[in-house]
Amino acid sequence: MILVSSCLLGNNVKYSGGNNGHELLMKYRQYLTAVCPECLGELPIPRPPAELQGGDGHAVLAGRAKVCNKEDLDVTGHFLQGAKLALDMAQKHSVKIAILKANSPSCGNVQIYSGRFDGEKIPGAGVAAALLMENGIKVYSEQEIDEDLLKRLIAEDRG
Ligand code: SF4
Repeated sequence: MILVSSCLLGNNVKYSGGNNGHELLMKYRQYLTAVCPECLGELPIPRPPAELQGGDGHAVLAGRAKVCNKEDLDVTGHFLQGAKLALDMAQKHSVKIAILKANSPSCGNVQIYSGRFDGEKIPGAGVAAALLMENGIKVYSEQEIDEDLLKRLIAEDRG
């Protein structure tokens, strides 16, 4: 099983209530399984945007950083719950590969927003992506995927 951010598969789960439908991933959706960590964390749709403050997802997992939304509400607990349930799902199905939405405070793999809600991006992972990576799952973003790579990953996953 390959996990993919639900919003990339056209599901209206992002904070704004919309999606990030990705043409290539949607073409192969029959081989992909949707996951939305923020939904698993029982955050509503729509919801205020949130950013990590004080560090990236690894720092949040270590208790050294937090997640706050634009209304200055601490939503760290929701993000941790969502990440843990996404990992539970991955481990239950022996997932080795995930393709997650770039730059998201949950799903970003190499870059996240600054925490100042100023549109700037900084190096680091989102909370769910960090937890998956810490547990040996390879996390790509949609920006790193082309059709050849996706077909190869699907073929490998299906053995
Ligand atoms: Fe998409 Fe991930 Fe945000 Fe859910 S948590 S809306 S899957 S980027």
